[in-house]
Amino acid sequence: MNAHIAILGCGFAALTAVRELRRRSPGVRITLVAPKAELMYYPSLIWVPSGLRRGADLHIDVSGFLAEQRVEFHAGRVTGLQDGGRTVLTDSGTQTNDALLIASGGRFLKAMPGIEHALTICEGSSAAEAIRERLATLGGGTIAFGFGTNPKEQGAMRGGPMFELLFGIDTLLRRQGRRERFKLVFFNAAKEPGKRLGDKAVVGLLREMQKRGIATHLGHKLTGFEADKVKTEGGDVPADLILFMPGMSGPAWAADAGLPLSDGGFFQTDTHCQVAGADKVYVAGDSGSYPGPDWLPKQAHIADLQAKAAAENLLLALAGKPPVAHFKPELICIVDTLDRGILVYRDEKRALILPPCRLFHWAKRFFEWQYLRPYRKTRRA
Ligand SMILES: Cc1cc2nc3c(=O)[nH]c(=O)nc-3n(C[C@H](O)[C@H](O)[C@H](O)COP(=O)(O)OP(=O)(O)OC[C@H]3O[C@@H](n4cnc5c(N)ncnc54)[C@H](O)[C@@H]3O)c2cc1C
Repeated sequence: MNAHIAILGCGFAALTAVRELRRRSPGVRITLVAPKAELMYYPSLIWVPSGLRRGADLHIDVSGFLAEQRVEFHAGRVTGLQDGGRTVLTDSGTQTNDALLIASGGRFLKAMPGIEHALTICEGSSAAEAIRERLATLGGGTIAFGFGTNPKEQGAMRGGPMFELLFGIDTLLRRQGRRERFKLVFFNAAKEPGKRLGDKAVVGLLREMQKRGIATHLGHKLTGFEADKVKTEGGDVPADLILFMPGMSGPAWAADAGLPLSDGGFFQTDTHCQVAGADKVYVAGDSGSYPGPDWLPKQAHIADLQAKAAAENLLLALAGKPPVAHFKPELICIVDTLDRGILVYRDEKRALILPPCRLFHWAKRFFEWQYLRPYRKTRRA
């Protein structure tokens, strides 16, 4: 088969799709379109404020991996699609394809009034470094932590890393012997934050906050931020430092793609990760809105599962066959506390949380090493 497949993005879903396509079809032509041949390893950003990782450690050059996999790289930012996806428009020219896999991630909503007063770690390594610097210069005071959602698609949120920042900064301040000079407050519009992780997880996370002397401000709709406060319908939370993860939406260019979108602005797919009503256009990872349980996470783990299913179905479509692959709705996350980890797992049958233990902190570090190994091994000199 010498069909030409275009993959948009160079993150978790895109690179997993490369591997899966190459494994299943050694002869297929693949072009990857992204601003840089680089994987941003987001899960370890939570270790930057404590100095366990540097921001630069988490930008992984994948140009050697792409060369090894015989993938052509088109450096550019996608701006839209034409011809039902057969033509990709970028800021550095157009690309045509026989089949398309969209894996260019999501986007954080920054519409909340005063959002510029909050540091948002989802923006990447520079934001994580900025948190580290602010913590180093702050002599004491209140640090407020929270996350939001997309009002049009409640599941489009990312709470896990905020729990990790909260517990990790608590551990760091204790290590530094200055915890008593700080008040840590966790705020959330929901009365039961992290509910998507499962009922037991909410209880476990709130118990951990209580154990660590972390205050909560829960069940009040967020209305905005000022330099020294978080504003909610249930009163203000005074704060010297605000750390906030906004809700998510689909890529900005989705509006110019001519494809069906969900209410929250994500590409709408069917259970085979195919864009509803489009020919040979697939989605994996944070760009998509997928049928499934309401707790379906936006996570690297599920992005990988979706990429495998999308790649298999895409090759079947090129061969004129119907789709067969599905991804398993599954949530696995280790909520790291800098020295321990809380394991949270959920699938359609079970939802469990295991209490903090050192093993899971080391498991998260081991997983990072193992995940990045194939890319580091092929790094270009
Ligand atoms: C702080 C933090 C911690 C996290 N921790 C975990 C964790 O512990 N476990 C977990 O499973 N998940 C975690 N996540 C979530 C996880 O990182 C995401 O779900 C995952 O990155 C989604 O993969 P993706 O491939 O869909 O998108 P991304 O990894 O975001 O990749 C998108 C790619 O598209 C490219 N791109 C963007 N715009 C364009 C464009 N216009 N044209 C072309 N290319 C474009 C980007 O450069 C990037 O290469 C964390 C996220 C954050 C922010």
